[in-house]
Amino acid sequence: MERGSRPPAGVGNPLNRSGPLDPSKEQYGEFTAAELFCPRCGTAVPVREKLLLILPDGELYEYLCVHCGASLGDKTTKGKENIRIVIS
Ligand SMILES: [Zn+2]
Repeated sequence: MERGSRPPAGVGNPLNRSGPLDPSKEQYGEFTAAELFCPRCGTAVPVREKLLLILPDGELYEYLCVHCGASLGDKTTKGKENIRIVIS
C-alpha cells in the first residue's frame, strides 16, 4: 500500500464547521445614512461621518461627501440614550 500523497478533504475538514461563526450581523450600532445627495457631484454619493464636537448630551456628526468633501448634513447622537433600551 502506497501512501504518497494525502487525500484532500479528509478528516478534520474545516468546511464542515458551519457553526455559529456570525451570530447576528445586525449589530451595526452607528451605521446611518449610507448615501446622500451631493449638489456638487450632482448625484447620490457615499458619505463619511466626521465627529465635529462632543456635546454634554451627545455628539455632533457631519456628513461629508467622500468625493469632494462637501458637507451634506449633520446629525446629533444622544449618547446617554443609547444605553437605554425600552421594550414596550
Ligand atoms: Zn461631492
